[in-house]
Amino acid sequence: MDFRVLESMLPYFTTIYGNPSNINNIAGTTARNAVEDALYEIADYFNAISINDIIITSGATESNNLAISGVLDNKANSHIIVSCIEHPSVIEVCQYWQAKGTEVTFLPVDSEGRIDLKDLEKSIKKETCLISVMSANNEIGTIQPIYSIAEIAKKHRVLFHTDASQYLLHHRIDVQKIPIDMISFSGHKMHGPKGIGGLYISKSARSSLSPIIHGGGQQLNLRSGTLNVPGIIGISTAFRIARETQAEMNEKMYHMMKVFFQRLDLDMNYHVNGSIDKRIPNNINMYFDNVSAKALINLLPDIAISTGSACNSGKKALNYVLKNIGLTEEEIEYSFRIGMSKYTTEEEMISVADSIMNAVYQIRKSI
Ligand code: PLP
Repeated sequence: MDFRVLESMLPYFTTIYGNPSNINNIAGTTARNAVEDALYEIADYFNAISINDIIITSGATESNNLAISGVLDNKANSHIIVSCIEHPSVIEVCQYWQAKGTEVTFLPVDSEGRIDLKDLEKSIKKETCLISVMSANNEIGTIQPIYSIAEIAKKHRVLFHTDASQYLLHHRIDVQKIPIDMISFSGHKMHGPKGIGGLYISKSARSSLSPIIHGGGQQLNLRSGTLNVPGIIGISTAFRIARETQAEMNEKMYHMMKVFFQRLDLDMNYHVNGSIDKRIPNNINMYFDNVSAKALINLLPDIAISTGSACNSGKKALNYVLKNIGLTEEEIEYSFRIGMSKYTTEEEMISVADSIMNAVYQIRKSI
């Protein structure tokens, strides 16, 4: 987490402790004013019209559930379209609705992890009520053509939701320019706190959404529960810092990625999974022929690389994202993911490349 995020949150755990939904006392109104300022900051990131367009949740998992279940709640026998490489918080909720009778199209992707826009348009039918395609993938970093998807959705009068958790640290989305109805976001993907996130929802889409959490009627009755004030302040600070620093940060990260690969190029052949140019700058997913990722990771205990995202790395089944971009079982077992942050340095990337090359030599010598 960015230290400035932590600093901005601290007073809201202690001195400014009011409940923003209780405006009968000064403690409540002080908290309420702070939350409103924070919501303006977040709404501004999307160039949204009103702070009512921002619903705060416990993270992108809940936001994705709200976007999909919230739309399908009254339309269980309709049709929705999602890509086959969505995060489990989209895939699993779709499978839940599929078991209840909703028709779900899981769009295939190409070898870079991009959907085909013609496939998408062909899949739309009169029962289609929602398209959900992520802005950037959490395993391979591939960026989807969200502008074009939004235009297709609008042309066919279908709602479009995008899970932008991985994307928003690096790029803003201007909803006045791209007609996206719902956008999921998450604090801990932006150097903000964990356990906080939200859903941008346009005013016109709001009437199609039912709540999935019922209670005291907070947040226009769309997400009941006492607001997590420190979390909201923290995530709004993370949005502000992202807005102010992302151009420079992205440039630095793309440079570090280049330096990393140039170092490997000196001595090794390797394969990069996902797109080279349509990729968020903090994600490297790759493999070396005949080198098991597990063996590699075991030899590098000081480097936080993994066989997949946190949601996949504990699972026994083959990584479905890599499978869906066409990798063989062996290639999937060789593949690993490196995530950079804005605090990663060029020296660290060089040293990681050197350590990986040493480990690859050791493994190859032993087989
Ligand atoms: N969507 C994507 C693309 C993610 O990478 C993640 C994070 O793991 C999530 C959703 C879930 O976010 P959260 O951990 O905030 O629930």
